[in-house]
Amino acid sequence: MTNPSILILPGDGIGPEVMTEVRKVIDWFGANRGMAFDVSEDLVGGAAYDAHGTPLADETMARAQSVDAVLLGAVGGPKYDELDFAVKPERGLLRLRKEMDLFANLRPAVCFDALADFSSLKHDVIAGLDIMIVRELTSGVYFGEPRGIQDDNEGGRVGINTQRYTTSEIRRVARSAFDLARKRAGRVCSMEKANVMESGVLWREEVQWVRDNEYPDVELSHMYADAGAMQLVRWPKQFDVIVTDNLFGDLLSDVAAMLTGSLGMLPSASLGAPMANGRPKALYEPVHGSAPDIAGQGKANPIACIMSFAMALRYSFDRGAEADRLEAAVEKVLADGLRTPDLMGQQDLAPVSTAEMGDAITAALDAGI
Ligand code: NAD
Repeated sequence: MTNPSILILPGDGIGPEVMTEVRKVIDWFGANRGMAFDVSEDLVGGAAYDAHGTPLADETMARAQSVDAVLLGAVGGPKYDELDFAVKPERGLLRLRKEMDLFANLRPAVCFDALADFSSLKHDVIAGLDIMIVRELTSGVYFGEPRGIQDDNEGGRVGINTQRYTTSEIRRVARSAFDLARKRAGRVCSMEKANVMESGVLWREEVQWVRDNEYPDVELSHMYADAGAMQLVRWPKQFDVIVTDNLFGDLLSDVAAMLTGSLGMLPSASLGAPMANGRPKALYEPVHGSAPDIAGQGKANPIACIMSFAMALRYSFDRGAEADRLEAAVEKVLADGLRTPDLMGQQDLAPVSTAEMGDAITAALDAGI
């Protein structure tokens, strides 16, 4: 048996700083839980552009296709703002998502008790929140043709984008949501705009078809996406898994994410079709960017990236109990009052550094075994 493989792409800005802390956690699981990983590292984004003149070298792309999971830090920064669109750091990330065909983007919104007062919503609305948004990531209006800006032949211009979904695109992301629901509270809410969009009608019908034919044990409800946005802010705990398209998912996952406080706390997973070994193609990354305003200062919160590795344990390596262990360690550290500067709020405590937060989490893992 070979060890499961992970490709680490730290990227730019705070990416390498937070990834250093993830390496400590990966090493901890190797040393203490008999889970040795074959870890390799490579360049993406501005760092890859500096070295190779491209934000993702072909060899790196090939490595990403061959490993069990890719773990990415963040890409981008002001140094690269003037670059041609084709070689901007973000293109490296988009190429990974596209060529790995990562169609299901998982964004959990979990509220740790210790941070419940950090949300802009009231304590009882947010305490104990644990929902999962599944966003379709490779189709819809961001990719549909025709698109572009044209003359309208009346002296003005017209901007065109096309919302387009096929049966198979809808069914495969619906299956991802139903599979997740089976491991959670068993409920899926599908969101679209079937009242005004034909693609929304198809979405609703196909999600219902998958449920009726393949997942009769899962409870399915439907909601218009605008109503869903309101409900997310009014009483988010009514949801378990939400599945929605690329555009609505972009907006709704950001709303859900901010319910819980800081960008520095938010992990994500993007999953594709199963590989020959049964594991899905997978890219794990924090939601935040490269945070150039704090890069190199030891101020970055590594928890989003560490929680992304917890998602890898759960969804790529089928080690849900180990993911629970890691999440419990993070919860313990927060309950003990440790805070990076982004989590300080009104408190008088002295903040800890990126490295101190990583060390505290591995110490909490030590204490838990
Ligand atoms: P950002 O997420 O980098 O930062 C937004 C704010 O949140 C900043 O004030 C930053 O200091 C803070 N922040 C972010 N992550 C944090 C963390 N882990 N700990 C503490 N504070 C944190 O977004 P931005 O400023 O809009 O973008 C900066 C660069 O990142 C841009 O080049 C952008 O294109 C890129 N970006 C990359 C990704 C990605 O790699 N997936 C995502 C978003 C933005």
